[in-house]
Amino acid sequence: MNTRDTEHIIAELNTHNNYTQTTNPQEADLIIINTCSVREKPVAKLFSELGQFNKIKKDGAKIGVCGCTASHLGDEIIKRASYVDFVVGARNVSKISKAVETKGSVEIDINHDETNYDFSEFRSSLYKANINISLGCDKQCTFCIVPATRGEEISIPAEIILNEAKKSAQNGIKEIFLLGQNVNNYGKYFSSQNSEKYDFTKLLQELSKIDGIERIRFTSPHPLHMDDDFIEEFASNPKICKFIHVPLQSGSTKILKDMKRGYTKEWFLKVCEKIKTKVPTARISTDIIVAFPHESEEDFLDTLDVVNQVKFDQIFNFKYSPRPNTPASTMEQIDSDIGTRRLNTLIELHKTHQDLHMDKAIGQIHKVYFEDLKPNGEIMGFSDNGMQVFVEGSEELLGKIVDVKITTNTRTSLKGVVL
Ligand code: SF4
Repeated sequence: MNTRDTEHIIAELNTHNNYTQTTNPQEADLIIINTCSVREKPVAKLFSELGQFNKIKKDGAKIGVCGCTASHLGDEIIKRASYVDFVVGARNVSKISKAVETKGSVEIDINHDETNYDFSEFRSSLYKANINISLGCDKQCTFCIVPATRGEEISIPAEIILNEAKKSAQNGIKEIFLLGQNVNNYGKYFSSQNSEKYDFTKLLQELSKIDGIERIRFTSPHPLHMDDDFIEEFASNPKICKFIHVPLQSGSTKILKDMKRGYTKEWFLKVCEKIKTKVPTARISTDIIVAFPHESEEDFLDTLDVVNQVKFDQIFNFKYSPRPNTPASTMEQIDSDIGTRRLNTLIELHKTHQDLHMDKAIGQIHKVYFEDLKPNGEIMGFSDNGMQVFVEGSEELLGKIVDVKITTNTRTSLKGVVL
């Protein structure tokens, strides 16, 4: 979502303030850091990065801070780094043009509704389009800072999303990537009562009717909203890429309850089983937090048990880090060394599953959408089920979807030959 927010920031500044991009901070008239606050580390990094940019920036250049850390620290940022000119929080991106012109401006209203705002157009990729479908989150997971930085969930009207997808297709883009905190809760809340009734499954169906759009990806879906209709659509719609994120967080029902995730270990396993039965070739990724407060050795073993049963293709794993003003931050914390040990155990187990999956890919034929020419002459793209694939080839392959036979692998990527 930050990537898409950055594209919106660039688009607005290009159109309304006459800025163009530079890769050299020393010649920039304006430097913006778009921040994340999901974990502690990027927040700590913000002030050291700001200090660095302040040292090298040219005279009179402005510095701004955007994103989730902007939402959560607000004017504290200007108090700690007085050379910062403005602060614009997540879901206030539409105010960027005015903010850059107003020294000291702090725009961090988490209830600001920009679901109907007509953002100017900028895309960082010629081949893929990120499209926001909702803002904010209606859950209250006890470890998560997102509801406090991105506010209540509101869906973007379907008409705006469909238009964005059509425009992308007209520009030759074949793949759209739908973004939201809980994409499959789409349509539950609109800012206008009169908005046409829509749910995520219907949105997927309408988007897949657009000529030229050949691939639809999305993140993140919430396991709670993976009903049978949704799984059926995922399985049967050929335009939906067969790579799905199912965020577990913990395999222990007790910890899931403390996290307020709303499902049990058994329920989660059943969802994954349904996906695998309907689409045996689907790849599944997940998020896991180890050493959440009160996590016992037995709870952790439950997590390993789920990992062993599902054999995820990709895991984004984290050692729990307390986020300010979240319920979990006041619970009794686990010793950091225990967290590190559990994280390493999980990483090692996952590597064995990754190797199994990647070995299975040898000899398979995948449709690969090529998007990047590497300096060594290789071309990189992604298979329908989300595997990174490299082949020898020329730039003629860029933007094309072609059959590739997989010949070799590493733990995280594949090599093949174009058929
Ligand atoms: S669903 Fe939970 S983890 Fe995801 S953004 Fe919402 S509160 Fe955070």
